[in-house]
Amino acid sequence: MKNKQKTQPTKKRILMYYLILAACLLVIAAITVGVLFGVKPADNSPTIDSGSTEEPPVKEPDDEPTVDTSSKYEFISPIENVTVSQAHVFWHNKTLNIFRLHQGMDFACDAGTEVFATVDGTVKSVYTNDRLYGGMIVIEHADGVTTVYKFVDPSETLRAGSTVNRGDVIGTVAVATGVENADGDHLHFEVYKNDKIQNPDLYLKLISK
Ligand SMILES: [Zn+2]
Repeated sequence: MKNKQKTQPTKKRILMYYLILAACLLVIAAITVGVLFGVKPADNSPTIDSGSTEEPPVKEPDDEPTVDTSSKYEFISPIENVTVSQAHVFWHNKTLNIFRLHQGMDFACDAGTEVFATVDGTVKSVYTNDRLYGGMIVIEHADGVTTVYKFVDPSETLRAGSTVNRGDVIGTVAVATGVENADGDHLHFEVYKNDKIQNPDLYLKLISK
């Protein structure tokens, strides 16, 4: 009787040990799975949140079109038979006897030579008797570009607000006058981009390099 009583509990104990062992293995397996797969989503969740907040800045750097390079905006020379007498460089103004950057580009030609709109645009202002430049025409174009024609006799029909097309005659070269009269008859031509002076040659490409 005593033996039977002792052997039965022993078998139960062995079974219990196996069950406990199995339970421990399950717990260890569960913890391992939890560590491997449970932590990663915890790390990812803040990343997903920050990702959603970063989405708007990603949309910001849109490439805005700057200069339309289609033929519509190609410049032509403001006069025929171009002779560049003064480029957009540091120079000596003989009339004023000072050294400074020549704001534009000079084209030597006889008074009366026709002056063309270099590209499509809208006339901003027309001066017929400017103290420094005599006659002067300012035309606004696409993309913040403005052209200025100095020492000219503007066409009588030209008014502020007039629409001009590339090649339209906007006036004629005047007899030498104003702050560059010592250089003789010529057209002084300037280009601005967003009100900043530009080298006209970048738009006209007249000077071979
Ligand atoms: Zn000039």
